[in-house]
Order: sequence, then structure tokens, then C-alpha cells
Amino acid sequence: KHVSKTFPVGKTILGKPDKFVHAVNDVSFDVYKGETFSIVGESGCGKSTTGRLINHLLTPDSGEIKFMGQEISHLTQDQMRPLRKDVQMIFQDPAGSLNPRMRVEDLIAEPLLIHTDMSKAERMEVVHELLGIVGLSPKHAKRYPHEFSGGQKQRIGIARALTVKPKLIIADEPISALDVSIQAQVLNLLHHLQEKFDLTYVFISHDLSVVEMISDRIAVMYLGFVVETAPKEMLYQAPMHPYTQALLSAVPIPDPGHKKERIILEGDIPSTINLPKGCPFAARCKKCMPQCLEKRPQTKEVAPGHLVACHLYDK
Ligand code: SF4
Ligand code: MG
Repeated sequence: KHVSKTFPVGKTILGKPDKFVHAVNDVSFDVYKGETFSIVGESGCGKSTTGRLINHLLTPDSGEIKFMGQEISHLTQDQMRPLRKDVQMIFQDPAGSLNPRMRVEDLIAEPLLIHTDMSKAERMEVVHELLGIVGLSPKHAKRYPHEFSGGQKQRIGIARALTVKPKLIIADEPISALDVSIQAQVLNLLHHLQEKFDLTYVFISHDLSVVEMISDRIAVMYLGFVVETAPKEMLYQAPMHPYTQALLSAVPIPDPGHKKERIILEGDIPSTINLPKGCPFAARCKKCMPQCLEKRPQTKEVAPGHLVACHLYDK
């Protein structure tokens, strides 16, 4: 709730930071048990930072982050330890997140070594079972990461995240680095695992056509702000924020008889160092009104579960 995070940049003569990147600004949302909640937006919109805040890899400057009712944003690493295994991450670059000098079985077993007191034999039993579940062969357990394709590496990353039976998985662009032909397979696997293990996902992506396949609800971020949140169907059928409308107008429709007008976004994304005073999207919005330059739009619920931050919907 109302989470903000800045990062210092630049230095004065005395070595103090003199500028701040406003990466996440007053962001609020709920993620419900068992759902896939997606965060979408262009690169630099604050979606990865938001994921890292939820996972306690970063501490917010203000606001609160609750996990299963418990405020976690200001816990120390020690206090956080028992909760650590409940939230696991899957990363975009499966190769970069797997230590090349470790065998796959040790890579997958590592979280068990950290979080449990299982014996080696018990750990290997879990590893072999998980390899099968993610669609790899237990015969591959002794190989090294470079012996696998990109899609297989991502399956290893997924198995590794699953070892400690997490409740929440934050998947940051998990299929963006994969061949298009492999993407659907990994999405299907994630969907299957969600049902099998009762998982909740926060799915981070820049790609609205990917997000449409996997999400229950979606938040759209722009310049570190959440500008619209809605159940998937509502968002795709009746997007309300001009930014969401522009993003969706660029998503190809499979039906060739269906024509839609593409909204081209002009102008640059403003700097997150000097945030605009009014609406973050004002500089690129074709519907911009005088008040948009003066006043930040507040988030309003325009339909049940459909939240939008835009002056067009002021009463
Ligand atoms: Fe456009 Fe104004 Fe709405 Fe911002 S508040 S998206 S500038 S209409
Ligand atoms: Mg990112």
C-alpha cells in the first residue's frame, strides 16, 4: 500500500547524492491467493523494482508491504528468514541466474540446503522428482547448465524455485529471453504448476499478448505509477486509461477481419528524476486536459475491481 522507492544518482562535491530516480511511486495493489497477478509496462516503468520490493530484495522508502497479513517491508534479514522460502523468484535470464560451475542437481537442491535440514539423500529425492515435474529427465541431474537449451535452463530455474514449496512466485519476464516456439511451453508449465502446487504468481512482463494468456488480474505501470488495475477480461475489452488503450492498440489480433486503430504514442517517456507535477502520462496523452498538467490523478474504482488513475473519470 502506497509503496515508493527511490534510488540515488549523481553526486555533489561532498559525495552526497544530489538526484533521485523515482522508480516506484505510491503503488498499491492486492494479490490474491492462487491467482496470477501481472504487472505490465515498458522497460523502466518500475515493474522489476516492484517485484524486488515484494521479495524483500529492496526496502521501500515509504508505504507498507504485507505478506499473508504480516508487514514485511521493514523486517531485518534475520526476521525475514522464516518467510524467505515462501517467496521465490524466477528470472528473465535463466543462464545468468544459474551458476555455470554447479551441477544441475546441486543448483536445484541449493535452496533446500539453505532453508531445510534435509539429508543429501532426501534432497536428491526432491530434485529428481522435480526434474520430472518440470519436464526434464532425472538422468540430466549430473549435467551442467551449459548442456541445456534456453527453455530447459528456465525449467531448471523453475524447479529450483519450487524446491522449498513457496507460496508466492515472482516471475520477472520469465519467457522474454526464450524463442517464441518455447515460450508457450514454459507458460503452460507455469500454469500446470500453479494448479499442482497451489501457487500464487506475480508475473512481470512488457508484453501484453503474453500477459493475456496467463493473468487473472493485471496492473499497468507507467513511470513508476500504477495507472490501471483490472481483471483481465475488463482490461482487454474495456481499457480505460489512455496509456493502456495505446498499449493494447499495438497488440495484434488473430482475426484478420477485425480492424482496430493503432494509437501511436508520441513523445518521450519523461525522466523519473524529475517527475511531472500532474499526470505522469500527460506529455504523451492525446486526451490531456489543463488539469492533467497541474494535479496528479487519484486512483478511482470505476467498476468493481477496475481501478484507474486518470482525470477523464473524475466525477
Ligand atoms: Fe491523459 Fe489526463 Fe488521463 Fe493523464 S489524467 S491519462 S493526461 S487524460
Ligand atoms: Mg525489468
